[in-house]
Amino acid sequence: MSGIPSTARVVIIGGGAVGVSSLYHLAKAGWTDCVLLEKNELTAGSTWHAAGNVPTFSTSWSLMNMQRYSTELYRGLGAAVDYPMNYHVTGSIRLAHSKERMQEFERAKGMGRYQGMDIEVLGVDEIKGKYPFLETHDLKGALYDPADGDIDPAQLTQALAKGARDMGATILRFTPATGVSRENGEWIVHTEKGDIRCEYVVNAAGYYAQRVGEWFKPYGGRTVPMMVMSHQYLLSEPVPELEAWSKESGRKLPLLRDVDTSYYLRQEKTGFNLGPYERNCKAHWVTPDDPFPEDFSFQLYPDDLDRLEFYIEDAMARVPLLGTAGISRVINGPIPYAPDGNPLIGPMPGVPNAFEACVFTFGIAQGGGAGKVLAEWITEGCTEWDMWSCDPRRYTDYTDRDYCIEKGKEVYGHEYAMHFPWHRWPAAPDRKLSPVHDKVKALGGQFGAYNGWERANWFAQPGDDTSEEATQTWNRAGPWEARIREECEAVRDGVGVLNLPGFSRFDLSGAGAADWLRGMIAGALPKVGRMNLGYFPDKRGRILTEMSILRHGEDEFTLITAATAQWHDGEHLRQNLAPGLTLTDRTVEFDTLIVSGPKARDLFAAIGEADLSLPWLSIQSASVAGRPAMLARVSFAGELGWEVHAKVADMPAIYDAVLGQGAKPFGMWALNSLRLEKGYRAWKGDLSTDYSLLEGGLDRFIKFDKPQDFPGKAALLAEKQRGSKKRFVTLVVDAGEADAPYMSTLWHDGAVVGETTSGGWGYRVGKSIALGMLRADLAQPGTEIAVEIYGERRRAVVQEDQPLWDPENARIRA
Ligand SMILES: Cc1cc2nc3c(=O)[nH]c(=O)nc-3n(C[C@H](O)[C@H](O)[C@H](O)COP(=O)(O)OP(=O)(O)OC[C@H]3O[C@@H](n4cnc5c(N)ncnc54)[C@H](O)[C@@H]3O)c2cc1C
Repeated sequence: MSGIPSTARVVIIGGGAVGVSSLYHLAKAGWTDCVLLEKNELTAGSTWHAAGNVPTFSTSWSLMNMQRYSTELYRGLGAAVDYPMNYHVTGSIRLAHSKERMQEFERAKGMGRYQGMDIEVLGVDEIKGKYPFLETHDLKGALYDPADGDIDPAQLTQALAKGARDMGATILRFTPATGVSRENGEWIVHTEKGDIRCEYVVNAAGYYAQRVGEWFKPYGGRTVPMMVMSHQYLLSEPVPELEAWSKESGRKLPLLRDVDTSYYLRQEKTGFNLGPYERNCKAHWVTPDDPFPEDFSFQLYPDDLDRLEFYIEDAMARVPLLGTAGISRVINGPIPYAPDGNPLIGPMPGVPNAFEACVFTFGIAQGGGAGKVLAEWITEGCTEWDMWSCDPRRYTDYTDRDYCIEKGKEVYGHEYAMHFPWHRWPAAPDRKLSPVHDKVKALGGQFGAYNGWERANWFAQPGDDTSEEATQTWNRAGPWEARIREECEAVRDGVGVLNLPGFSRFDLSGAGAADWLRGMIAGALPKVGRMNLGYFPDKRGRILTEMSILRHGEDEFTLITAATAQWHDGEHLRQNLAPGLTLTDRTVEFDTLIVSGPKARDLFAAIGEADLSLPWLSIQSASVAGRPAMLARVSFAGELGWEVHAKVADMPAIYDAVLGQGAKPFGMWALNSLRLEKGYRAWKGDLSTDYSLLEGGLDRFIKFDKPQDFPGKAALLAEKQRGSKKRFVTLVVDAGEADAPYMSTLWHDGAVVGETTSGGWGYRVGKSIALGMLRADLAQPGTEIAVEIYGERRRAVVQEDQPLWDPENARIRA
């Protein structure tokens, strides 16, 4: 058939801003033999009706990177591809109604400046200078982002399409993909006009992504975790006063966001565009009487202004000029949501050579960066910035339909909300429960979800304030603080117990397993009967993941890793597995207790049959409370202790017996404090693909002289010779009321010289601790620097490269 190429390297399904940007970036990387299929005209999905706002603001480093990149790309795009377009860089103002919001702004400003942007925080009296028509009496201040603005989404897509075509890529409009199949390690994408054989497929189908995702189920795929919201904006009639002001000043008003009330207000020509994210929001296509349509190209939902009344009134009070004009038009369109509101960009879980770039709620702002990230995934197998925030593998099997709907509505209704470290978003709890969940709950457990598993963050006592309101703070103090302190002290002085369901667990066996594993990690394997930490580098020597390696026999292992890493790490192992080896995910079969503290040995002596004299990092089959268990002598809390790994059915009896010996239950927040004092890294904070193993200070986990090659060896050797630019450090901080959150900037001599990767209070050492990455020449013990915590520069001192608590590990080895 004419016009359909029979082969391509990559086929992208979906011609919205994101799919086309992916094609553009593939072509830019030299991959021009790529085809994009669009079932209708380009932009027919969500893109055509988007308002086109292009913010850079985020408190996520990776999202900010992606959005900043988009603004940089869009500024030069029209000229680069010879397709002029409307991109108004107006700047934006975000209003703060509270001290906490101002702290959030300060944090974003710190991150933004580190990324090279000129974000400012404004006092109340400075706001009107930027935005004259505003009521400011009840405000605390604002954030000004000069790079913000709006772009015509259709023009943007067409410009990217022109650029991609000019480089040799192919776009086929009115050519729906109708299915996929796989043959001889290649994909075949079916269309009514013929088949295309390709190496890689990308699902960029926007709100149709779940439907397209179904085709991949026979090849290992899952239901795409998403739902669709109805989102509206209103356009006003022209406002003569605004027109006059624009004429006189020669500019447009900055984009205004009243984030605490939850709307944006933009100048649109000589009128306004008002877009609320309303609490009383509406999902679409989720009930039998409202089925998902076969096709919704260039369609809208009926107007539904009642839902927005409160926001319209509030905006009219904020900018009275808005009240002088009538509404001329309402746009109500579909917008897809993943359960956390971030898109899905990266490898399609379970499916070889298939990728996702879909479920974007801000696909215009993120589209540019998303295309870059997606192209890197395909052409390089890794991305410049760590993109875990958007990685499809961050969700596993718990994201069923109800979960997606409840979470999607929750995120939409709180689109601009602050994400406090102590707060748990309440929708759709209890997806996966430990066998002792009810017992933990009865003890006062206040839960958080980790890969859907409920774990206690802290244990409340009768009378403690466990309300959501109490969690609305960035500060350390709160109802939990005294409890965390008590929990840490119990682990320090007596013995504590933490139930840890959902620890990801893989059994690996088969002749040659040890050799294979040696070729996957940078370091050495433990001896039989022992365990250690293995670091898995990528080809650049950056930190892909960390696993505990437990060795039961010459070629028999259990690999244990973070709950959230289950699919990520499982796939990394599976995709690289040597023939003849067996890898089994046994996560759901087991439950884990961390039992830690100087009295741990007495505890197990009373209720266990085990050799408690075996040294630190030994593993053994044992019996606890008469039940079979594996005891691993290790403690993330940094005290004498064992992890108890037992079958789910055996855990209730074991937990009861441990509690019966007086162990004090402690939670994840106490564990976080305890591990900071030991300098133990946490995955996707301290350990990420933003850093190499050497930068991460993991030198002692690299064995350059072993016979097996491992990924990234050459890169690490080169870095070792040349010297690392950054080094991992432990800092003691003269913190105020708040400890340093992730990505707080480190300052020296008036310049940013690094960033924190995590921080918190250490209750055993009585200090505020931050772990981070510092310019290598400054990473000497005793160096004084400053950490910017929510806008306040705080003195910090670089510590010796050893744990702050028990530097000799004497307590662990006791
Ligand atoms: C009212 C409203 C205002 C918005 N305002 C903004 C904003 O100001 N800023 C912002 O960043 N975002 C905004 N958004 C969100 C934005 O519209 C989306 O995030 C973005 O358009 C998503 O782009 P996409 O390419 O991922 O998906 P889409 O634009 O939906 O593209 C997916 C494409 O896939 C095609 N397709 C589906 N199935 C197939 C198939 N089988 N074969 C071939 N093609 C197929 C569809 O036809 C469609 O063209 C807004 C959304 C709404 C509803």
